Amino acid sequence: MCSYCGEKPDTRDHVPSRILLDEPFPENLPVVPCCNKCNQSFSLDEEYIACLIECAICGTTDIDELKREKIKQTLNRNESLHHKISNSMTSSKGTVSFEIEVERLKNVILKLAKGHAKYENSEPMLDDPKHFGFKVLSAMSQDEIDRFLADTELIKSPEVGSRAMQNMTFNKNKNILSHWSVVQPHNYSYCVTNTFDSFSVRIIIGDYLATEIIW
Ligand SMILES: [Zn+2]
Repeated sequence: MCSYCGEKPDTRDHVPSRILLDEPFPENLPVVPCCNKCNQSFSLDEEYIACLIECAICGTTDIDELKREKIKQTLNRNESLHHKISNSMTSSKGTVSFEIEVERLKNVILKLAKGHAKYENSEPMLDDPKHFGFKVLSAMSQDEIDRFLADTELIKSPEVGSRAMQNMTFNKNKNILSHWSVVQPHNYSYCVTNTFDSFSVRIIIGDYLATEIIW
């Protein structure tokens, strides 16, 4: 099944998308089955989000001042995207901020979360989630960050033999804990948590943006 829509798969998709990572790519980057339609439908939004995050991290839309080479190339190639992001930037008293197209962010984060869910737990999550949230890490209190990063005690074990099973760690009381996977330091980490009444995927992009999807 396609991990995103449930249709017959034609191809495989990297999770996370490579635009969120720098070369050399990590070995054994997770791949999940996906249909051609889904494979293509997310790429513009992914490009937009990856470029916006890099501009926000660097506090500028001046391509020469950006750090990630892949983003510089993308913005040099895609003038209209560069314009769009530049126009969404406001600057006041030395503080730069960007207006984000939330639906496009949600589209990308939900896709990533579905990919991680499929990879970690074998089963695709095709329903609409009951919660989507995002916050810039620098706007979070230490307490909020600690809670966001905290391991969660799992009540229900994932399917035996699934990828999540191999990622389990055990605390002193032998309760199963979820844990964070660092795909590429400073660029991308995620944590899949499966409890008896909810399934959540938390993602941190660029040590900058914290996101959460809960089903
Ligand atoms: Zn699909």
